[in-house]
Amino acid sequence: MFNLYVSALKSQHDILEREVASAIEKRADAEAKVQRLNDQLAEKEVALGRVREYTVNDYHQIKQMIREQKYPCPFCLVRSGYIHELTTIASETDKDLFYCHECKQECEAPE
Ligand SMILES: [Zn+2]
Repeated sequence: MFNLYVSALKSQHDILEREVASAIEKRADAEAKVQRLNDQLAEKEVALGRVREYTVNDYHQIKQMIREQKYPCPFCLVRSGYIHELTTIASETDKDLFYCHECKQECEAPE
């Protein structure tokens, strides 16, 4: 009877050890995911700050560019804070297409 009891305890011990190892691994994965999300959040908060800054600080420069039918890349403005002029590219639709040589993004003219 005692041997049966010891065997059951050993079995439970082994099961619990595997469960603890699995939980530690899952916690490490979750912590890595939280770190990635925090990094993305910090990046987006910086980008949001740039949107607020450029709408105030560069408003007149952007407005002047648009008056001259030059268009600043919205991606560069938000992501890097720099103004890079878009280039018109051929479009197969009736929408105007633009390309940024700096960030390599294409975008359609808003309607
Ligand atoms: Zn760009």
